[in-house]
Amino acid sequence: MRQHIAPYLPASATCEDPRWTAHYERLINSMVLFGVKLKIIAKYTGASSRTISQRHKDLIQKTAAQGRIPNSEPKSFTIPKDRVNAEEVLHYSLFASCYNRIESGISEVLNRGWLLVAAYETYLQMTEGMISKLGPGSAAYRLNINKAFGLTTYLSGTKELALKRCNQCGIEHLYLTSAEPEHQECPMCRIARLSKDSHPAITHEVELAKQSTK
Ligand SMILES: [Zn+2]
Repeated sequence: MRQHIAPYLPASATCEDPRWTAHYERLINSMVLFGVKLKIIAKYTGASSRTISQRHKDLIQKTAAQGRIPNSEPKSFTIPKDRVNAEEVLHYSLFASCYNRIESGISEVLNRGWLLVAAYETYLQMTEGMISKLGPGSAAYRLNINKAFGLTTYLSGTKELALKRCNQCGIEHLYLTSAEPEHQECPMCRIARLSKDSHPAITHEVELAKQSTK
């Protein structure tokens, strides 16, 4: 008899359980291909450093991404400092929105590694149109998955970050839960304010973010 297995990876599924082995194998592969740090892969898949290193050699002919997990302050994900940074902050919000939606859309507690990859894939698809519009080799910003992981530790971990909807432009954006949300400007409104002569790619990005977080 064929047993029903969910398309997602719940936190309760162990890597030793043969019913979930294929999910874990796929998760390791995805994380390797996205350049996730070895420590994060090991934590959420239970794979040994040796297995992960070998997987890097097999899949991308590279050594595993060692080193510490990037640790940015929670406020660096929210406060746009300037025009360039406002775009980055917008990307953090887009990713966070994908992450929260997947997490809240599935009733079971999810494996955080699986959720990271699922949200990151959704974020990439969402911003793909923008990148292809700018053409190959463009310098369009893309959130790094290890930085995205850092973001999630504040979002669903410590809850120092949360999402709120901007009453000016209608997009969801990150804010610091320790401070008054009213005084934390939305990155989209900041971009609109700072770019008087609107850049076509930015206009597209603004439209895209509006659609995707509605
Ligand atoms: Zn706004």
